[in-house]
Amino acid sequence: MPEPDLTVVGGGLAGCEAAWQAAERGLRVRLFEMRPTRSTGAHTGDRLAELVCSNSLGSLQTNRAGGMLKAELERLGSLLLEVAVESAVPAGAALAVDRQVFAQAVTDRLAAHPRIEIVREEVTGVPRGLAILASGPLTSPALAQALAAFTGTDHLYFFDAIAPIVSADSVDMRIAFRQSRGGEADDYLNCPLDRGQYQALVWALRSAERTPLREFEQTIAQGVRAGAAAFFEGCLPVEIIAERGAQTLAYGPLRPVGLNDPRTGLRAHAVVQLRQEDRHATLYNLVGFQTNLRVDEQQRVFRMIPGLERAHFVRYGQMHRNTFVNAPRVLLPTLQTRARADLLLAGQITGVEGYMGNVATGLLAGWNAARLARGRAPLCLPATTILGALCGYIATAEEKHFQPMKSNFGILPPLEARPRGRLERGQAYADRGLRDLEAFLAAAKDD
Ligand SMILES: Cc1cc2nc3c(=O)[nH]c(=O)nc-3n(C[C@H](O)[C@H](O)[C@H](O)COP(=O)(O)OP(=O)(O)OC[C@H]3O[C@@H](n4cnc5c(N)ncnc54)[C@H](O)[C@@H]3O)c2cc1C
Repeated sequence: MPEPDLTVVGGGLAGCEAAWQAAERGLRVRLFEMRPTRSTGAHTGDRLAELVCSNSLGSLQTNRAGGMLKAELERLGSLLLEVAVESAVPAGAALAVDRQVFAQAVTDRLAAHPRIEIVREEVTGVPRGLAILASGPLTSPALAQALAAFTGTDHLYFFDAIAPIVSADSVDMRIAFRQSRGGEADDYLNCPLDRGQYQALVWALRSAERTPLREFEQTIAQGVRAGAAAFFEGCLPVEIIAERGAQTLAYGPLRPVGLNDPRTGLRAHAVVQLRQEDRHATLYNLVGFQTNLRVDEQQRVFRMIPGLERAHFVRYGQMHRNTFVNAPRVLLPTLQTRARADLLLAGQITGVEGYMGNVATGLLAGWNAARLARGRAPLCLPATTILGALCGYIATAEEKHFQPMKSNFGILPPLEARPRGRLERGQAYADRGLRDLEAFLAAAKDD
């Protein structure tokens, strides 16, 4: 391919969407992905757009923030949303995918695009010329260092944790029961705990041995500053939640509300939910059980859960690093860096959390790169849309205490008439945002 119009670094969720959007608008795109030559430590394969943890992309209901974002992405022509829908597995009102099918389909679509060239190479410096950096939370150390030097700021680091996966045939279905919360579908496996079993589990979680932080920190590559071991609140390890209070889990990820054992008609004291991982329903992940316990301790403690006594662990939970810039200092709401108009950031590295939020920033970055290439002004979406609000939030939040943000209605401007019910309110946000998006697109007269 001749010299590209745009360089994209990182073939993850954001980078793939960005490359596709720019290529569809006529740009020649060179997409760099360092796997399989170099691994991140969390990805396991060489496909693009690999989902490293949960296979759930969140709610499909437009009266939820995640669902509203998906409606926006659908309207904006997101490739990854389209592929996700094609790769879906049953997950109640959520969109969950078979991760292998999803990643393969994204890889195939990009590889077949006449204006996208995929280069399997690590990028170690901030690219020159029009570029999008979408190297994700596990950006390679050399590039992270180069980015830190470019921005002139320190990165912020914190630790996330991922949940274990068990094989379906090792779950004791004489104890576990199928049901979704609310009872409309049977997509989840549910392991009920009585009060005594719950208390024993909480005690075991609190006292089990963890992977020493120093050991984990040693895996953080040289040159990257490891900050305080602070967890993002949305992805706390289960043992940390257990430490917060005896009933904190029972009111959190293990809440039994809407789950009645069909065999007894009774509601348990707590319920561990297992969500389907793959299309063939052979694998299930333990919802909310992201953890930093030692592997042998995970076996011991998680097998205390009724129904999981003989669980076969296909993947153990683990902690991981997360890298993101101080967006209010570094970024504009167009996702351009403040220091260089032709350098954009997308994905988790911007401080936007969540799979679909990462896809969405990729979409905007790719679109804006195409506009910049044609000498047109980059766009900010209306603040009443989730994507517009997310980009506005990260670019204008308070620098000192900046933390990543995921899709939520709290970042949207207040409604003029505020319905009392939560779901009605959610729907009103969605109706307003999608209406504004239509008007915006009509006025923008973009391609
Ligand atoms: C372990 C883990 C678990 C997570 N779990 C969830 C979850 O369950 N749900 C959720 O919504 N979000 C989760 N996240 C957060 C985040 O939403 C996802 O990581 C998401 O994939 C981020 O998208 P991205 O495109 O920014 O980065 P990624 O999807 O990670 O893509 C970045 C790509 O860049 C490549 N790369 C890195 N450095 C270089 C370089 N120097 N040169 C070339 N290529 C490079 C990487 O190999 C990778 O393929 C998790 C994050 C991690 C790390």
